Amino acid sequence: MGLPSQKRTKSSGKRRASHFALAKPAVNKCANCGTSILPHHACKKCGFFKGAKKVASKTKSTKK
Ligand SMILES: [Zn+2]
Repeated sequence: MGLPSQKRTKSSGKRRASHFALAKPAVNKCANCGTSILPHHACKKCGFFKGAKKVASKTKSTKK
């Protein structure tokens, strides 16, 4: 069986692990209400997409 030729020090392991962090998702702000939204998605709060109302917002439809 193959064995490691050299000892992995704490520092070399930590240096390798420095690239393990996950990238944070890109977050935009809604032009209408200012809520944080994912790019290329309609706003979940007000249903606006590209400056016009495209999707019926859930909050208004559930109340009626
Ligand atoms: Zn919005």
